Amino acid sequence: MSAMQSQDPQIFDLIEHEKQRQKEGIELIPSENYTSAAVMEACGSILTNKYSEGYPGKRYYGGQENIDQIENIAIERAKQLFGAEHVNVQPYSGSPANTAIYFALLNFGDTVMGLKLDHGGHITHGLPIAFSGKAYNFVQYEVNRETGRLDMEAIRKLALEHKPKMIVAGFTAYPRDIDWKKFKEIADEVGAISMADISHTAGLIAGGVLESPVPYFDVVMTTTHKTLRGPRGAIILCKEKHAKAIDRAVFPGLQGGPHEHIIAGKAIAFSEALKPEFKVYAKQIQTNARHLAEAMKAKGFKLVSDGTDTHLILADLTNKGVPGKQAQMILDTVGITLNKNTVPFDTRTPMDPSGIRLGTPAVTTRGMKEPEMDMIADWLDRVISNIEDTALHAKIKEEVKQMCLKFPVPGID
Ligand SMILES: *Cc1c(COP(=O)(O)O)cnc(C)c1O
Repeated sequence: MSAMQSQDPQIFDLIEHEKQRQKEGIELIPSENYTSAAVMEACGSILTNKYSEGYPGKRYYGGQENIDQIENIAIERAKQLFGAEHVNVQPYSGSPANTAIYFALLNFGDTVMGLKLDHGGHITHGLPIAFSGKAYNFVQYEVNRETGRLDMEAIRKLALEHKPKMIVAGFTAYPRDIDWKKFKEIADEVGAISMADISHTAGLIAGGVLESPVPYFDVVMTTTHKTLRGPRGAIILCKEKHAKAIDRAVFPGLQGGPHEHIIAGKAIAFSEALKPEFKVYAKQIQTNARHLAEAMKAKGFKLVSDGTDTHLILADLTNKGVPGKQAQMILDTVGITLNKNTVPFDTRTPMDPSGIRLGTPAVTTRGMKEPEMDMIADWLDRVISNIEDTALHAKIKEEVKQMCLKFPVPGID
């Protein structure tokens, strides 16, 4: 019996049930993944006991001889993986990392450009009710109504009009590749700091499948737990000239003691991403997403931008007559997990939007390939086209489970 099982059976049982859910269901939430057993061991290690405010070699407490080495290894591996001049591995997660970047390089009230939330941006990119939207004057750009894609000329015009101090090129529900060079040109033309938030696509960038903004941009932020497949957390990469400001903003500007158990997990994840196998994984994520997108289109699904270049698919269910919220709820009952999502120019609300967002990082980690993508498209279609048919849902739930049990989950099996 494990210590947790004997001491706190209530939490133990819930984790066991969650294990079963993760094993028997198809995980299509594009921001989720299965991290390795090695990463989880680091995150569950005794490093959680240690305080290490400051940076390697410049700490406020003693006993850092091991911690400093761990953090330096994480930094060096991240630099190598992304070709960055400077890396801060301490951010607790993506949202505090973005906040630290703003705090480092902007003054409150400064004008910033970010993609609108319902067009694929993140809450930290200027949502009016969020800290970013309250503390800074965010001007929000949109995608093109016809193409569902970024219109770089429209973005340039908006930048020339508003003269932002920073342009955030960041995407949480945008299925297409980004023209980083063009973004940087626009930022240079108006004298703005360029900031890329690659939280979703960092694994595809590290794996060489998508182009990297790191050579061009002043600052790049990524979470470590999405396509990058590490522990829950984030890192900030920047040019040397911003290094001091970024480090000071993370600590002591925004955070206290770094989570060194997570930083150890990040170091392990970076070493995994540096291996040749990770390139194969990243390529298969994209291949699976493209295949799933085509299979969904063949079933009459309408996709924003008509497809994907990445790991992510955004479907507008308006023509199917099923709102995103209901689709998410019913698909949950058959063991297919995805999320309801607004589509650009959505006529419904964020809590009950028109679309669903799905992606392939987690299923690809389990080893699923094109044949399984066909099965997933088929199940999505059968459930959404028969949204009231509970007998059919029960049958599909069993089919989903049988397929899933053939594909082991790292850290569980
Ligand atoms: C996920 C995400 C974040 C925030 O990450 P958290 O770890 O959830 O705070 C920030 N930006 C983008 C683009 C994201 O996709």
